[in-house]
Amino acid sequence: MFSRILIANRGEIACRIIATCQRMGIETVAVYSDADRMALHVDMADHAVHIGPAEAAQSYLQGDRIIAAALATRAQAIHPGYGFLSENPEFAEAVGVAGLVFIGPTPAAIRAMGLKDAAKALMVSAGVPVVPGYHGSDQDPDLLAAEADKIGYPVLIKARAGGGGKGMRLVSQPSEFKTSFESACREGNASFGDPHCLIEKYVNHPRHIEVQVFGDTQGNVIHLNERDCSLQRRHQKVIEESPAPDMPPVLRQAMGQAAVEAAKAIGYCGAGTVEFIVDGSGPLHEGGFWFMEMNTRLQVEHPVTEAVTGVDLVEWQLRVAAGAPLPLTQDEVPLRGHAVEARIYAEDVAKGFLPAAGPLKAMDEPAASRFEQGTLRIDTGVRAGDEISPHYDPMIGKLIAHGPDRTAALAQLRAGLSVMGYAGVTTNRDFLIHLLGLADVQSGAVQTGLIAQNPQLQDNAKPEPAHWAVAAAAIARRQIGRDPFDRLHGFALWGGMVQSIPVTWRDETSHMDLRFDAADMWFDEIMVSPVAGGFQVTEFGRTRRIRAYRFGRDVTLVDGARTLDFSQPDPLAVAADGVGQMDHVLAPMTGVIRHLAVVPGQHVAQGDTLMILEAMKMEHRLVAPRNAVVTSVLAVEDQQVADASLLVTFEAEIEAADV
Ligand code: ADP
Repeated sequence: MFSRILIANRGEIACRIIATCQRMGIETVAVYSDADRMALHVDMADHAVHIGPAEAAQSYLQGDRIIAAALATRAQAIHPGYGFLSENPEFAEAVGVAGLVFIGPTPAAIRAMGLKDAAKALMVSAGVPVVPGYHGSDQDPDLLAAEADKIGYPVLIKARAGGGGKGMRLVSQPSEFKTSFESACREGNASFGDPHCLIEKYVNHPRHIEVQVFGDTQGNVIHLNERDCSLQRRHQKVIEESPAPDMPPVLRQAMGQAAVEAAKAIGYCGAGTVEFIVDGSGPLHEGGFWFMEMNTRLQVEHPVTEAVTGVDLVEWQLRVAAGAPLPLTQDEVPLRGHAVEARIYAEDVAKGFLPAAGPLKAMDEPAASRFEQGTLRIDTGVRAGDEISPHYDPMIGKLIAHGPDRTAALAQLRAGLSVMGYAGVTTNRDFLIHLLGLADVQSGAVQTGLIAQNPQLQDNAKPEPAHWAVAAAAIARRQIGRDPFDRLHGFALWGGMVQSIPVTWRDETSHMDLRFDAADMWFDEIMVSPVAGGFQVTEFGRTRRIRAYRFGRDVTLVDGARTLDFSQPDPLAVAADGVGQMDHVLAPMTGVIRHLAVVPGQHVAQGDTLMILEAMKMEHRLVAPRNAVVTSVLAVEDQQVADASLLVTFEAEIEAADV
């Protein structure tokens, strides 16, 4: 076994790998960028090497620098984690050339599965069912449009080098084909440096079911059951579970066998995942699954497999990379109970799941094991006080529940999420709780379109009077300065006093008349009493606790499944902004303008594309808020724009006059 390895990654997966190494007595070397100088993975590792500036291209994607760091620290092997260099065959090769072990499959195996088109061709010859489509090299838009007609709409365009849902477009009719094709090529090129696309038949009522496979250097390949990852937004997974709901054992065996065949076809060694798209229009059946792609690395969602099999997949990766045979045979692989994972992202669900970087000022977690199997498990790479950097994936962490059955696991997960609270960055926590409560999720009727079909999940409920009152109370404690509630003898001083506290939520400001009565505050019939970590609210004889986080002028409340961000209006920020929201478009986040669709003087209709902003390697379409005339365009193509910078202005809205 190795005595020291380097981890070529960051965030939760770097920490996850270090945790297993610590248990196995293997020393670890972390690498870090300027943005991660203080990161948890650097703290947890035995050694750490700085590899460059914040941009991933200048640090975590610098293979040579990482290999040099491994050699300098005398590490014997490199674990790539997921993302970054994990599926880069040149890197895997260079690691070998440097005399180090790459903890993963051979460069040839990575290469064989690296491009979706070549992988599909290979699978056809291995007898694995694949989705019908076009995966030729001719990229003439007319030819591709003709192929799409042949396949029959709806079709899915996929960047062949794509991953994480990037470079993928669903096209429902021929007239949309070319625009979508161009956009997919652009995104493929921007994200992966490869504009090539393939086309696939879009499977209706699709479920995403994948199989965890493992191979060793002796040529053994087994599978460790399936994971259902059908709950997705923007083609990206948010909830994953094992086993798949209502999975017939014969289908598990058939898919497992196909996945093992796929892995054997490329002489696979280490942890891998074979992804299938499955016909979910009725009960799952043996003729209804098709190969999509193989991920030649550890997956984000590996903990659900660990929960139901009892296997530490990172430990297996290390053992197999060191030349040991697989510890279990196929028949010995257990399947115990049910596990569900939720991915917690720093993102604004109401804004279409827009990544929301920022400082994580506070973080409350349920009691759980960390990187270790248990009823509730948390895998995260951040602590309160850390920054969620715009340079990397905005995932904060994962919460994994394991129970005797699906109902128990879902209940555990929801309860765990309800206890979780974040302040400083917007997260998808509330959305996850609502999603898990959907009747279709509870009953196991999961499909990849379920989230999009339930737009109400993305609505932000408006605060109730009790929330306004608690926010005002949190602000009052600060305004009064001496924070009388922290000093028992101060209470009497404020008895009977009434203060009007301005509180803002979104663009709504209310003046809350709070009456102070000893330790309590009253707003009409609502009584608010400070308690540790927040306030107790009594309303109509019923009492509940609302957690409150206060940083500067911001107050975040967590009330069960609801997180509400209030602030104290800045008295100096006068309403200088005479222009209403309908008269301009601001950049929703920092990014680069990839395409400009309008010029000054142009008439636009509500919903028309104004420009395409690329941010966090995704394309975001900015649209006209109403029918209007563009008066100015304040950006040029390829320009980097900051969050909230003014991009387009429109002529003032004129009341339609009767003629
Ligand atoms: P990526 O590599 O970007 O993750 P995948 O090929 O794995 O792309 O597909 C991502 C998701 O897109 C799948 O999980 C599934 O929800 C959806 N998808 C992919 N192919 C199809 C298809 N042919 N029909 C329907 N949905 C599909």
